[in-house]
Amino acid sequence: MPWSSSNRRAELPPDWSAIRARVLARDGHQCRGRMRDGSRCPTTSGLEVDHIGDRHDHTDLNLQTLCSWHHKAKTRSESLAARRRRPPDRRARPAESHPGLK
Ligand SMILES: [Zn+2]
Repeated sequence: MPWSSSNRRAELPPDWSAIRARVLARDGHQCRGRMRDGSRCPTTSGLEVDHIGDRHDHTDLNLQTLCSWHHKAKTRSESLAARRRRPPDRRARPAESHPGLK
Protein backbone atom coordinates (compact mmCIF):
# COMPACT_ATOMS: atom_id res chain seq x y z
CA MET A 1 0.00 0.00 0.00
CA PRO A 2 1.43 3.40 -0.88
CA TRP A 3 2.03 5.38 2.28
CA SER A 4 0.59 8.52 0.75
CA SER A 5 -2.78 7.03 1.76
CA SER A 6 -2.09 8.22 5.30
CA ASN A 7 -1.90 11.81 4.10
CA ARG A 8 -3.97 14.02 6.42
CA ARG A 9 -5.37 15.98 3.50
CA ALA A 10 -7.10 12.87 2.23
CA GLU A 11 -9.16 12.79 5.42
CA LEU A 12 -10.67 16.22 4.88
CA PRO A 13 -14.23 16.36 3.52
CA PRO A 14 -14.91 17.71 0.00
CA ASP A 15 -16.58 20.82 1.43
CA TRP A 16 -13.61 21.55 3.72
CA SER A 17 -12.94 24.96 2.15
CA ALA A 18 -16.51 26.04 2.99
CA ILE A 19 -16.25 24.65 6.54
CA ARG A 20 -12.88 26.33 6.99
CA ALA A 21 -14.23 29.69 5.81
CA ARG A 22 -17.18 29.39 8.21
CA VAL A 23 -14.96 28.61 11.21
CA LEU A 24 -12.60 31.49 10.37
CA ALA A 25 -15.56 33.86 10.12
CA ARG A 26 -17.05 32.59 13.40
CA ASP A 27 -13.75 33.19 15.21
CA GLY A 28 -13.42 36.66 13.69
CA HIS A 29 -10.34 35.64 11.66
CA GLN A 30 -8.29 35.62 14.85
CA CYS A 31 -6.37 32.83 16.59
CA ARG A 32 -8.27 31.28 19.50
CA GLY A 33 -5.11 30.23 21.29
CA ARG A 34 -4.24 31.66 24.69
CA MET A 35 -1.14 33.57 25.60
CA ARG A 36 0.78 32.87 28.82
CA ASP A 37 -1.12 35.60 30.66
CA GLY A 38 -4.47 34.11 29.62
CA SER A 39 -5.29 36.74 27.01
CA ARG A 40 -6.36 35.77 23.52
CA CYS A 41 -3.66 35.39 20.90
CA PRO A 42 -3.75 38.53 18.72
CA THR A 43 -2.64 36.78 15.52
CA THR A 44 -4.91 37.41 12.54
CA SER A 45 -2.74 36.21 9.66
CA GLY A 46 -1.49 32.80 8.58
CA LEU A 47 -4.42 31.16 10.37
CA GLU A 48 -5.21 27.47 10.30
CA VAL A 49 -8.36 25.59 11.25
CA ASP A 50 -7.60 22.94 13.87
CA HIS A 51 -9.53 19.89 14.99
CA ILE A 52 -9.94 20.28 18.74
CA GLY A 53 -10.56 16.57 19.32
CA ASP A 54 -11.36 13.82 16.82
CA ARG A 55 -9.63 14.48 13.49
CA HIS A 56 -12.55 12.87 11.68
CA ASP A 57 -15.16 15.12 13.27
CA HIS A 58 -15.56 18.12 10.99
CA THR A 59 -18.44 19.77 12.84
CA ASP A 60 -18.03 23.43 13.79
CA LEU A 61 -17.91 22.64 17.50
CA ASN A 62 -14.82 20.48 17.00
CA LEU A 63 -13.02 23.13 14.98
CA GLN A 64 -11.14 26.25 16.02
CA THR A 65 -8.98 28.89 14.41
CA LEU A 66 -5.31 28.80 15.41
CA CYS A 67 -2.24 30.62 14.18
CA SER A 68 0.51 28.36 12.89
CA TRP A 69 2.47 28.82 16.14
CA HIS A 70 -0.43 27.69 18.35
CA HIS A 71 -1.28 24.89 15.91
CA LYS A 72 2.29 23.56 16.07
CA ALA A 73 2.39 23.91 19.85
CA LYS A 74 -0.87 21.95 20.16
CA THR A 75 0.25 19.23 17.75
CA ARG A 76 3.53 18.90 19.62
CA SER A 77 1.89 18.56 23.04
CA GLU A 78 -0.57 16.01 21.60
CA SER A 79 2.18 13.84 20.16
CA LEU A 80 4.10 14.04 23.44
CA ALA A 81 0.97 12.94 25.32
CA ALA A 82 0.42 10.10 22.83
CA ARG A 83 4.00 8.97 23.27
CA ARG A 84 3.55 8.86 27.04
CA ARG A 85 0.35 6.81 26.75
CA ARG A 86 1.62 4.26 24.22
CA PRO A 87 4.42 1.78 24.53
CA PRO A 88 7.33 2.64 22.24
CA ASP A 89 6.71 2.00 18.55
CA ARG A 90 8.95 -0.94 17.63
CA ARG A 91 9.16 0.10 13.99
CA ALA A 92 10.46 3.52 14.93
CA ARG A 93 12.77 2.43 17.71
CA PRO A 94 13.85 -1.12 18.64
CA ALA A 95 12.90 -2.06 22.19
CA GLU A 96 16.40 -3.36 22.78
CA SER A 97 19.52 -1.99 21.20
CA HIS A 98 21.55 -4.35 19.07
CA PRO A 99 24.25 -6.03 21.19
CA GLY A 100 26.81 -5.10 18.55
CA LEU A 101 25.94 -1.41 18.77
CA LYS A 102 27.80 0.23 21.58
ZN1 LIG B 1 -2.03 32.00 18.19
